[in-house]
Amino acid sequence: MKAIIWDLDETLWVGTVYHGESVKLKQETKEILKQIDKLGIDQYVCSHNVKEHVFKQIDEFGLRKYFKIIKAEIGIEKDDMIQQILDETGLLPEEVVFIDDTGINRELVRLKVGCHVDFEEDLYRVMKYFDTDRLKSMNQQRTRTDFETKWTGTRKEFLKLVKNEITIKEAEESELPRITNLANRTNDLNAARSRYTMQEMRDIFESGDYVIWVAYLTDQFGDYGLIGEIIVNVSDAKHWFIKDWCVSCRTMGRGVGTELLRSVKEIANVSAVEKVTGCVIPNDDNYRMGPMYIKAGFKKGKVEDEKHYYIYEVK
Ligand SMILES: [Mg+2]
Repeated sequence: MKAIIWDLDETLWVGTVYHGESVKLKQETKEILKQIDKLGIDQYVCSHNVKEHVFKQIDEFGLRKYFKIIKAEIGIEKDDMIQQILDETGLLPEEVVFIDDTGINRELVRLKVGCHVDFEEDLYRVMKYFDTDRLKSMNQQRTRTDFETKWTGTRKEFLKLVKNEITIKEAEESELPRITNLANRTNDLNAARSRYTMQEMRDIFESGDYVIWVAYLTDQFGDYGLIGEIIVNVSDAKHWFIKDWCVSCRTMGRGVGTELLRSVKEIANVSAVEKVTGCVIPNDDNYRMGPMYIKAGFKKGKVEDEKHYYIYEVK
């Protein structure tokens, strides 16, 4: 499927702007539009509506950027509007799915234009046309967030209850693409903020000067995959240097960053290492990283060229 055409009233939001009512965006609408956009699928609007009401509402919700064409007319049937979209874009009917809460509109478009038509209360279901893996992980994430929002106990109890399980291991070659990607895409939980090409990461991996440890996370809702990494320069047997340390923001508050540091400390404790140094290059996003070093038992060291150093002395 190359494109999706959305109805608005009672589809993307609850209520009808046609009558000038105030409407409420469905809980999942923004996330769905964003995810489909990320997949490179073109999105359009086809609405039987007052044009000014539609544009005003779309702008108020901040949705304009997701739609390539917005058709909002009163005197034209939906099949004609959609045919116009196909004519303007060169899309074929079989490449398009039209989502509309009104059965008669769907039937008309199916018979006269020939594109796929569908509607389900839960908008997440439309992901089945594009990417089922993403649908699965979005559903997991939603269940998780719902659960977390309703939880009133302590953080620790929460993590135990959801069977939060972190696995740390040494990186393998097959994980290099994911490791590179994670370093390049993480902002909030990224200490030194280095970005890498695949080749640069491979050079690090193969050099023998570094060890890369990676973290995996699972909980009762599903599998997060590889979501954290720490790259340590071990070329000086007595003094290790943490070159990079980052964790996916999706797993903030799950203890992954702390666990990575703890593992490095544990291994340092039983080897010839006397000192482990880490560094944070702070900006507006990664302010949590310094305090995380401190919490893990590192002491604040010098600041040099924007680099804030944190030191762990092995006893
Ligand atoms: Mg509708």
